[in-house]
Amino acid sequence: MTTPDVHSVLIIGSGPAGLTAAIYTARANLAPLMLEGEPSSTSDQPGGQLMLTTEVENFPGFPEGIMGPDLMLRFREQAQRFGTDIQTVKATRVDFSERPFKVWTGDPQAAEPTYLAQSVIVSTGAQALMLGLDDEQRLLGHGVSTCATCDGFFFRGQDIAVVGGGDSAVEEATFLTKFADSVSLVHRRDELRASKIMQERAFANPKIKFVWDSTVDDVNGTTKVENVMLRNLKTGERSQLDVTGLFVAIGHRPNTDLFVGQLKMDENGYIVTHDGSNTSVEGVFACGDVQDHVYRQAITAAGTGCMAAIDAERWLEAQAHHA
Ligand code: NAP
Repeated sequence: MTTPDVHSVLIIGSGPAGLTAAIYTARANLAPLMLEGEPSSTSDQPGGQLMLTTEVENFPGFPEGIMGPDLMLRFREQAQRFGTDIQTVKATRVDFSERPFKVWTGDPQAAEPTYLAQSVIVSTGAQALMLGLDDEQRLLGHGVSTCATCDGFFFRGQDIAVVGGGDSAVEEATFLTKFADSVSLVHRRDELRASKIMQERAFANPKIKFVWDSTVDDVNGTTKVENVMLRNLKTGERSQLDVTGLFVAIGHRPNTDLFVGQLKMDENGYIVTHDGSNTSVEGVFACGDVQDHVYRQAITAAGTGCMAAIDAERWLEAQAHHA
């Protein structure tokens, strides 16, 4: 059995954070290896959440806008141009208990790891929780959205709905009133989970209508959202709500199952970083939505990817000095 080579930098995850880390580490001559995920998997597919979007108008440098998948293709080409080795595989197990760090792909029970690395950059992202409706994925980017900051602008003068009762839903509903004529906040209970101050702001907003004790049963539309079917959970009554947008704001889940027991996480499973992109394990860095539940933007993910690359480079340099 041969021992795998030790890579200087191994990057897990290929959204804006991971690919920016790849561009920077590749240009620092560190020959990064990237495990980009697998197309068959929805949670950690190559390219991350932008692969599920359509028009992106807020990424600087693209005044005419760009389609999310095209933007990620450009990130990827730029990372490859400087020599990033991109493997279309999923990491299935990691062992960060000693250096070099061990990473498995394929059978996680295999005795030997697939890869060894002096440093690892974790950029596995997060996923927006979805309602699980039949046509939700089909209409994603065509009226169904999980990001008001990204897509609110497209709904000027329209009637839209937001689902959820937490801070995200209430914040998004309030933000969306800048554009929409009306925002119906659909919540499955008769009280909100959101903080009191945000609730008060929303209750005082004449453009927000509250639909209590209700769920969205269906989202309908041929090529874009035309209406949603609501069901009152107390009475069972179904009603049609004519909206052209449905913002699903029922929470996010970071893709961190792989790192349980290896890296320190907060109570919601996000990786805890300190002093830039350092994690609880020296030599392992994290960037993007896997460690950010506040901003969640492609540009902030890219920014932290750059930070992780510089942190990894400096750390490797310091290690070489001490050796
Ligand atoms: P959250 O607090 O977990 O709230 C999720 C909401 O979605 C809840 O109201 C929940 O209903 C509802 N929900 C969950 N699954 C559902 C389903 N299948 N169908 C219908 N409704 C469903 O998530 P979040 O609002 O994204 O917030 C996450 C964290 O970020 C929180 O700690 C929050 O305080 C924080 N945050 C802070 C700010 C801010 O301070 N500016 C902004 C956004 C988020 P129930 O209430 O019935 O469980």
